[in-house]
Amino acid sequence: MTQQTPDDCIFCRIVAGELPSERVAETERSIAIRDINPAAPVHVLVVPRRHEPTVGALAASSDDLTDVFRLVQQVAEQEGVADAHRMVVNTGSGAGQTVFHAHVHVLAGARFSEEWLL
Ligand code: 5GP
Ligand code: ZN
Repeated sequence: MTQQTPDDCIFCRIVAGELPSERVAETERSIAIRDINPAAPVHVLVVPRRHEPTVGALAASSDDLTDVFRLVQQVAEQEGVADAHRMVVNTGSGAGQTVFHAHVHVLAGARFSEEWLL
């Protein structure tokens, strides 16, 4: 698996404010930004501030992991989709991961059963 160092990591640079993003919410440990290439009417990425390449690696810190899931819930409520949204985590390029800084996709507004396999 490709492992980027924080210096060349796009999400570390977004967290640091060096690259622009549409931030919809944030906590001390995580940020929530709109995906630049949305796959559904609501497509937000919840990104821990701490660099870990995958959600699995992030799980070593229960505080960070818990915070990410709390922020997912906050975003879902803010976006009015608390009762109908999907979380997606891609781990490894074979599963479609393209940015190797842990993140959770929050997707909503699509007809999940017809448009997606899962
Ligand atoms: P992955 O494929 O790694 O699970 O998801 C990476 C996601 O990050 C993709 O959905 C992609 O559209 C999004 N993305 C890539 N670069 C940027 C960026 O510079 N800004 C934002 N907001 N999203 C990005
Ligand atoms: Zn990073």
